[in-house]
Amino acid sequence: MNRNDIEQLVRPNIRELKPYRSARDDFGSGTLLDANENAWGAPVPNRLNLHRYPVPVHAQLRQKVASFRGVEPDSVFFGNGSDEPIDLLVRIFCKPGVDAIVTTPPTYGMYKVSARINDVNVIEIPLTEEFELRTEEILAQASEATKILFLCSPNNPTANDLDRASILKLVELFPGIVVVDEAYIDFSRQESMAPMVQQYPNLVVLQTFSKSFGMAGARLGIAFAGPEILSWMMKVKPPYNINKLTSDIALQAFEKLDLIRINLDMIRKEQVRLSKELAANPAVVKVFRSDANFLLFRIPKAHEAYQKLAEKGIIVRYRGNEPLCENCLRVTVGLPDENDRFLRLLENITSSGTETDQP
Ligand code: PMP
Repeated sequence: MNRNDIEQLVRPNIRELKPYRSARDDFGSGTLLDANENAWGAPVPNRLNLHRYPVPVHAQLRQKVASFRGVEPDSVFFGNGSDEPIDLLVRIFCKPGVDAIVTTPPTYGMYKVSARINDVNVIEIPLTEEFELRTEEILAQASEATKILFLCSPNNPTANDLDRASILKLVELFPGIVVVDEAYIDFSRQESMAPMVQQYPNLVVLQTFSKSFGMAGARLGIAFAGPEILSWMMKVKPPYNINKLTSDIALQAFEKLDLIRINLDMIRKEQVRLSKELAANPAVVKVFRSDANFLLFRIPKAHEAYQKLAEKGIIVRYRGNEPLCENCLRVTVGLPDENDRFLRLLENITSSGTETDQP
């Protein structure tokens, strides 16, 4: 299996696919009587011509994202959140009932869910106790069937950057597609791997507007990939997966990069403070190193603590069912007063002794 021969990795039915041609692929202007739109217009303020379908490539936004991340515009793919490209990649490369993806738990849950929805097997090679990649084991498990390896750096829920040299080794040696999910990269000190898609045809880098850009509600994800993978993604995606409102608001965000940077700086500072103060709670067994906007920490009777926090309106994530995450909770870095409320409540819960109210 040659990792650089992308076409040979693509599912045969996708290779033979004649993609849907949308009306806006052919002509974008003129007297538009081609797409069964409503020429009378939208009933709401209509600066964006919402009565017309969007042009599927979102060229202006593509250009902005490309220059911001240091890649070529034809290496940029937009998805409805980054969950959409995850699903598209599984569908492009993995034959249901035959092929597999490889994941490295504990990690982001959608890789497995997307695979399962598509009846694709999941081979799990857990991280080490230090939450690093078992590179040799991953390579030992690779076969004709393992079409995609999903890595996440910084990793959710463990919060750490994966070792860059290990990721690169896998990009170079794994005989399939390697996806590096960088949803949290802007919180990390590491550089994005996005520019490397030019060099490695089997590499896909995922990012999102949901985290550092603070726009989770807009649902805009990005996949960076070389021209070959990108053209398959364009063929398989729903033609109008990104709407004009989302595309427009994302363009506006690029006018506010200063504000994004200020917020990032404050989130980083709060993350350090939260981590220190959490570690000062005698009941907290461990706060794991974070390169992201959340912390993973271990505490006795974590599920009970999670429920008690929720009863008082502080919602965190219980991760104790994940491998290597026994008795672990994941908390997002909030605003300073939200973090204070969380810290104070956790102190109350832990100092009153969770064991006493166990039957
Ligand atoms: N990747 C990771 C690692 C995530 O944690 C998340 C969301 N929590 C996503 C992808 C999906 O992000 P979105 O669909 O909002 O772009």
